[in-house]
Amino acid sequence: MENISDRVNRLSESATIAMARKARELKSQGIDIISLSLGEPDFNTPDFIKEAAKEGIDQNYSKYMPVNGYQDLREAISNKFKRDNNIDYTTDQIVVSTGAKQSIANVVLSLINPGDEVIVPAPFWVSYEEIIKMAEGIPVFIETSIENDFKISPQQLRNAISSKTKMMIYSSPCNPSGSVYSKEELRSLADVLVNHSEITVLSDEIYEHINFTGSYFSMAAFPDMYNQVVTINGVSKSFAMTGWRLGYIGAPLWIAKACTKIQGQFTSGTSGISQRASLAAIAADPVVVHTMRDAFLKRRDFVIGELKKINGIKINQPQGAFYVFPDVSFFFNKSYNNYSINNANDLSLYLLETAKVALVTGNAFGSPNCIRISYAASIENLKEAMSRITTSLNKLN
Ligand code: PMP
Ligand code: GLU
Repeated sequence: MENISDRVNRLSESATIAMARKARELKSQGIDIISLSLGEPDFNTPDFIKEAAKEGIDQNYSKYMPVNGYQDLREAISNKFKRDNNIDYTTDQIVVSTGAKQSIANVVLSLINPGDEVIVPAPFWVSYEEIIKMAEGIPVFIETSIENDFKISPQQLRNAISSKTKMMIYSSPCNPSGSVYSKEELRSLADVLVNHSEITVLSDEIYEHINFTGSYFSMAAFPDMYNQVVTINGVSKSFAMTGWRLGYIGAPLWIAKACTKIQGQFTSGTSGISQRASLAAIAADPVVVHTMRDAFLKRRDFVIGELKKINGIKINQPQGAFYVFPDVSFFFNKSYNNYSINNANDLSLYLLETAKVALVTGNAFGSPNCIRISYAASIENLKEAMSRITTSLNKLN
């Protein structure tokens, strides 16, 4: 008898991962699919990072490690926070985990009791909602609009706070909208949050180095917010290290201790080899990843340029990460042959089947009028994909 727990029954499969799986399956059947579904750099991990991992193997970093990460890695992360973000975290305030996804799960499970509310500006990264549900918390979404670059206002935040609010989670640069909050915008949100010391803010900064604005600000760098913020980061995106599985937090000590306690019962420390590789990545001058950032910028401009030529598409100007998130509601209630498009789910399926391009419906990110296109792919693939998407969309009427 299959007896799945209510906890797992309540969960949805990750929509990004599900679409990537579907694309892989179709490819293995010989179908020429271009996958723009998964948020994963197409670059290889830089050589100096791979060398550090090889040295780690030779130096026998193959034993159980401290649950919260090796001391020298946490020192490098502490220096990184000071260097890039102007935040002081001691090594005790840093917890290294098996991906930023685990870092987020650790924090949410550490702080959320059943019934606690967590504010999540939409659009949001798919796993936030499910991790909150796993902790039996209640996600409270704040809707945004393309006209406001998918950003929330202080008034919207004020309205969303209730006596049950315990946390707020956002990413900047944002997956999926690419929006980057400026220092002034963050300050105006901080002015609301400082009056609520019971609310912990999870600032997900995993796309920090894939930022085209030329400046970056972290919420925890405001002295009056320092004790209320957990800063999430990791090596997956900026250093093209998705498969190495290493993320980390800087947090108030009591939260870092709680996360270490959870992790000590779930996974222990992340792989020692990944820690050696990540130490090299994090200690390096971020200039080493600027060539990747510059390539992403060129691709963004190409994809946006092509989308703007399509009648009916509305789009913001993403300032970071590697996604575009166009509003495609113009195509709802249109059809072609046997395909009737009623929503973004239908449209993404239509594009998968007719254009053979995999992308992700906005529903999974809390914005049902949009679709997410990842442009972390070669320019050749992007050219072919945009041409196919354009042909398919122009057929709908
Ligand atoms: N946060 C955001 C906004 C993401 O897009 C991702 C992508 N996987 C993660 C966190 C988790 O990253 P990872 O677990 O690979 O470190
Ligand atoms: N964060 C990436 C994405 O949004 C990777 C997939 C995942 O972990 O959800 O596509």
